[in-house]
Amino acid sequence: MMFYFYISYLKSEIKSHQNFSANNPYYLVPVILFHDIDGKGPYSVTREEFRNYLNILKEEKIQIVSLKTLYQHAIKNQFFDKPTMVITIDDDYVNIVRVLAPILREYHYPATFFFYVKDIQSHPTKGTSWEDLKRLLKEDFDIQNHSFSHTVFHKKKDGESEEIFYQRLYQEIVLSKKILESNLNHTIWAFAYPMGYYTEETHQYIFKNDYKIVLTTDAKPLDLSKPFDGIVHRYTIQKEYVKDPVKMFYLQISYAKRTYQTNKNISSR
Ligand SMILES: [Zn+2]
Repeated sequence: MMFYFYISYLKSEIKSHQNFSANNPYYLVPVILFHDIDGKGPYSVTREEFRNYLNILKEEKIQIVSLKTLYQHAIKNQFFDKPTMVITIDDDYVNIVRVLAPILREYHYPATFFFYVKDIQSHPTKGTSWEDLKRLLKEDFDIQNHSFSHTVFHKKKDGESEEIFYQRLYQEIVLSKKILESNLNHTIWAFAYPMGYYTEETHQYIFKNDYKIVLTTDAKPLDLSKPFDGIVHRYTIQKEYVKDPVKMFYLQISYAKRTYQTNKNISSR
C-alpha cells in the first residue's frame, strides 16, 4: 500500500515538473534593472560600477539571455542549462545610448531598453532621439515600452473623472505603444511600469492591449517552475535602500545558481 502511494506520488511529481532534468536544473531567473550611468543619484551607477557588475556576471559564469528568450522559457516552464539572468535598462538618459550600450556590447550581453516616448524627438539637442533608438535596434538590443510620460496611473488623481482617467491609461499604455511601433517599425510586447506602481486592473488593461508581459520593480526572480502569469519582477540596482549594493547583487546571483533539486531538498525538510 505504502509502495503504491509512493509510486503515484513519484508519477505526479514527474508530471508536474516534466521540464526539469539534470541537464536543465536552473529555474530562478533574476531580471536586473539599471538606470543612468553618470553615478549621480541613488539609482545611477558610475561607469566603473557598471563594469564591475558585468565583470561579476562573467566571473560567476552567469548566462545573460534576452527578455524574449526568458519569455519563451516561461510560457513553457522550461528551465535553463546554466545560471541565467536578464539585463534591462529604464528611462531616457542620454548616457544610456552613448555610454551604457557600448559597454554592454563589449561584453556581448543582450539587453532590453525601456523608453518613455514623450521626450524622444527627431533631432534633439539633448536627451534621446529616434535615431538613437534605431541604432540600438540595429545593434540587436531590444526596445520596449516604459509609458508615454513616466507618471503614475495606478489610480485616479483627486477629482479625476473616470473618463479622463481612462484617457490617461490609453495614452500611457496604448498610444505610447503605437508611437514606438510606428517610429521604430518594431513590435512592442512588454511594458515596464514607471516608478513601479501597479494594480491588478492595470495588469489586465495592459494584457488586453496586446502586451505579453508587464514588468514591475518588486525584486523577485522569475520562477520557471510556476505557471507563468505574464508578470516579471525586477531587481533594481540602487544605493538608496540597500547598505551594500554589490552584496545584494551577489544575492541575485545566488538565486540564479539555485538548482531545482537543491530547492526541493530545502523545502521538504
Ligand atoms: Zn523609469
